[in-house]
Amino acid sequence: MSASNSVEHARINLMLGELRLSGVKSMWGALVETADKEGWPAARFLSALCEQELAEKGRRRLARHLDEAHLPPGKTINNFDFSATPMVSKAQFQALAGGDVWIDKGANILMFGPPGVGKSHLAAALGMALVEKGWRVLFTRTTDLVQKLQIARQELRLSEAIAKLDRHHLIILDDITYVTRDQAETSVLFELISARYERRSILITANQPFGEWHKIFPDQAMTLAAIDRVVHHATIFEMNVDSYRRQAAVRKAQAQKS
Ligand code: ADP
Ligand code: MG
Repeated sequence: MSASNSVEHARINLMLGELRLSGVKSMWGALVETADKEGWPAARFLSALCEQELAEKGRRRLARHLDEAHLPPGKTINNFDFSATPMVSKAQFQALAGGDVWIDKGANILMFGPPGVGKSHLAAALGMALVEKGWRVLFTRTTDLVQKLQIARQELRLSEAIAKLDRHHLIILDDITYVTRDQAETSVLFELISARYERRSILITANQPFGEWHKIFPDQAMTLAAIDRVVHHATIFEMNVDSYRRQAAVRKAQAQKS
């Protein structure tokens, strides 16, 4: 590279840095070489640069969305054994993973079932698939989120905190029935549910069906109103099977006997 070329090179890198075009910045040198060698028309070169920048921005967005989603690692639709839960099918989850049919209109998903049947796994797997499709997700233990919202309320910024959660198209509230009204002022949970109603989706996992939800909210009217809003546009999965690990242990024992 000649001296004037290397000055030009440095100047371009400075400008690209200033413009925050990191995709172009990392690739333009190689593209210039190819373009010069192959005699590309200017428009082709420019279009290749734009593609680099778009791809880089896409990668970064995905990384940011994965980071903010707080998904438990290693839970995917592909490593879920659907034969253990006959009431949910892989095809159904793959359809939900598109998001367009339900997240678009702020519909909800409810998953009920005893511990160990794969509710959290499926919720996380769905969250992961949705992030990959470009949706923004937050996975949280319900108790953690309630605690955060309570602090926000004490600091008189509850509506601000709830509005900020709007950036997540889907909030996964894991283990809602672990929240009890004596531990926490759970009306913040009701505020969240009301604020998202018909606009932004919620996925709830629960060990206990609705009959036990009066233990979550401060009074019966609020419990009924919360259930009403959550189920209005909801797909409900009742996963009343044996714990996956127990099923696996039983299968193993049977295999050893035979
Ligand atoms: P739940 O939330 O219903 O209590 P989890 O999703 O935490 O259950 O499941 C418990 C463990 O068993 C997790 O490690 C999960 O990955 C695994 N597991 C549960 N069901 C299945 C399944 N059908 N296929 C594969 N792994 C499963
Ligand atoms: Mg769970």
